[in-house]
Amino acid sequence: MHGAKGDDIILRVPCGTIIRDAETDALVADLTEPGQQVMVARGGRGGLGNVHFATSTRQTPKEAQRGEPGEERWLKLELRVIADVGLVGYPNAGKSTLLSVVSAARPKIANYPFTTLEPNLGVVEVGQPRSGDGFGFVVADIPGLIEGAAQGVGLGHEFLRHIRRTRCCHMVDGSAIERDPWQDFEAINKELREYDAQLAERPQLVVLNKMDVPESQERWPEFKARVEAAGYSAFAISAAAHQGTEELMAEASRRLHEIAREEAERAAAQVVVDLREGESPILRPMPDDAFTISKEMGIFVVHGKRVERMVNMTNQESEEGMDRMQVQLEKMGVTKALEEAGVKVGDTVRFGKVELYWGE
Ligand code: GDP
Ligand code: MG
Repeated sequence: MHGAKGDDIILRVPCGTIIRDAETDALVADLTEPGQQVMVARGGRGGLGNVHFATSTRQTPKEAQRGEPGEERWLKLELRVIADVGLVGYPNAGKSTLLSVVSAARPKIANYPFTTLEPNLGVVEVGQPRSGDGFGFVVADIPGLIEGAAQGVGLGHEFLRHIRRTRCCHMVDGSAIERDPWQDFEAINKELREYDAQLAERPQLVVLNKMDVPESQERWPEFKARVEAAGYSAFAISAAAHQGTEELMAEASRRLHEIAREEAERAAAQVVVDLREGESPILRPMPDDAFTISKEMGIFVVHGKRVERMVNMTNQESEEGMDRMQVQLEKMGVTKALEEAGVKVGDTVRFGKVELYWGE
């Protein structure tokens, strides 16, 4: 008889899901495109049916193997919003205003239904609308940096994971009389650095907003000089008045093109797995017949892919199966090795998930 094949278990996750091995933290896959699939644990091979054990004298043996246990592993799944540009800055710097201006100016706006605790995303189209050569990119309004910290809520850092792989557009309010734009800029950078030193090192587009207000205009020359001396590009805009916003987005687009080119060159090193392209490279290699014997808390533990599989696939309720297993263990040298390791009658021997008693 043939048993039914087990079904695949497919876990659907949103784009932007990063899968890591929970124990080693190793990157297993970075699913960024719709339709990408990765196999994270392979099911066991099926056991052999009783026909396999038939001989000329035993036409209907009662013996059949159990299936091999499937692979098991612990994984960590983390969702990152896929945005190309993240807007960071003090509360009231004008991040949301800019997002609404640059994405609302086009008919293609994607308003994602996140809760208030999630960043807002907007799609920006640069170039001629519908000309086909436009380059769309996603801007995320990252709220709550200083806000969360000040309230002791720590929300800011919760959002920061979303901009780990985006470019930052750093918005600074030039009109706040009681504050200094440069100090605001540094305070936000400090937050970024505390979260992730590399994140703070990344290039930023630094934007002084509210240039329609005299205070901003007065502070612009000095701010620009300091920003540029620190190695960043400085921009002056008025998000509310739509001044300089298109130029800013055009520059962001240009930089993103540059990054995309650089990333294409590095793509070979990426651990993105797409099963449509063939077999998953994360499958563990099939080990050989080797096995090890160790003693853990009085129990003998036999490790070895083939021996573990053989024992785990044995139907323990079948006398024939158990006999066959004994023969196999002897053939594989496991019995002898166990005896050499000092196994005695009544001891427990573990093979994977199966524990057996050492008998006469
Ligand atoms: P966010 O907290 O960084 O998202 O800032 P908002 O976009 O909510 O803006 C905070 C306040 O600043 C709002 O009252 C906006 O109307 C105002 N604002 C934003 N951009 C400008 C600007 O360019 N000029 C002026 N005068 N006000 C602005
Ligand atoms: Mg806002």
